[in-house]
Amino acid sequence: MDFTEKLQQELDALQTKGNLRRLPTLEHDGRYVIVNGQRMLNLSSNDYLGLATDIDLRREFLETLTPETFLPTSSSSRLLTGNYHIYDELEAELASRFGKEAALVFNCGYHANTGILPAVADADTLILADKLIHASLIDGLKLGKTRYLRYRHNDLNHLERLLKEYGSAYQHIIIVTESIFSMDGDKAPLRQLVALKQRYPNVMLYVDEAHAFGLRGASGLGCAEEEGCIDDIDFLMGTFGKAAASSGAYLVCSRTVREYLVNHMRPFIFTTALPPVCVAWTLFIVRRLAAMNDRRQHLDHLGKLLRKRLVDGGYKTSGTSQIVPMIVGESADTVLRAEALQRHGFYALPVRPPTVPEGTSRIRFSLTAALTEEEVCSIPL
Ligand code: PMP
Repeated sequence: MDFTEKLQQELDALQTKGNLRRLPTLEHDGRYVIVNGQRMLNLSSNDYLGLATDIDLRREFLETLTPETFLPTSSSSRLLTGNYHIYDELEAELASRFGKEAALVFNCGYHANTGILPAVADADTLILADKLIHASLIDGLKLGKTRYLRYRHNDLNHLERLLKEYGSAYQHIIIVTESIFSMDGDKAPLRQLVALKQRYPNVMLYVDEAHAFGLRGASGLGCAEEEGCIDDIDFLMGTFGKAAASSGAYLVCSRTVREYLVNHMRPFIFTTALPPVCVAWTLFIVRRLAAMNDRRQHLDHLGKLLRKRLVDGGYKTSGTSQIVPMIVGESADTVLRAEALQRHGFYALPVRPPTVPEGTSRIRFSLTAALTEEEVCSIPL
């Protein structure tokens, strides 16, 4: 069998199992998407605060630009000539808002998660990671030279058992978790993780706030703010591609960690820096996040409403956030459910293995503050 035939056979097997992925052809129309000529309400976007569809916000930002200040490319790595001043401004703003010594901005969360841990963790370090962490973090674990073990999802007893059993052989231990989990929409017990860390002198915490930045806490900084434990998290990262309606990612950390990453983190060093105009937009949004409590409260209300409707309808769901899964089970059934929703004008997508475990295929409703209560109540479940 030649190489292409071999690949095709694997694709055919994926298709048979209902797990073949295809790039959708779609057009965007504000809160709607148009697929195959059908206009549907977008229930699959990570634009959690509804900022990406806010034309007034865009207009206000565009007024700050001139042809001279509209910089569509950095043309270089930050270590060469790509380090525009706007990067320093965004990092200073983040460090100050989080009350941390330093911040570092990356091209995306995937870069952050595949680069930070392999850079800082060596063979004397053990990583203990939640079973349901995002693929980018898993790839980071695989890329590094560090031993890693996975603990059962949000299971503090299992985590501590691993810590006791294996931890003494290592100089440093890093616990890795998300704060809001991307597929189940549930929350990590951050305060308990901090309490656990404090009982061991050599334990550090790495928390990915991709689905919480902009959404949780009194000023939208994330679950660490909500739980009052920003200072206790050694590596606190988040992304700008979701609630912040932009692109990129950040880490807030110590000055030393920042400098170390600038010297060792390959996805930071060997890439063209984000376009300065994109960083300027991020900064524009970051400065407004604290004042967006109305949007946060509305989103919280919509999440509760949809969860209640699912439970009342006899569906299995999980979590407490804007990510609301409707667990169907088999992939093929899930695809049919998604197609039915789409026929009714709701663009909700199936999530299948390998993204989620076998037998837990689901419709992943991803709510945004731009939705209305009436719209959420009219989703046919
Ligand atoms: N972390 C988590 C938890 C995510 O869900 C994602 C993206 N879905 C990322 C990191 C990657 O972020 P980015 O899209 O900015 O690469």
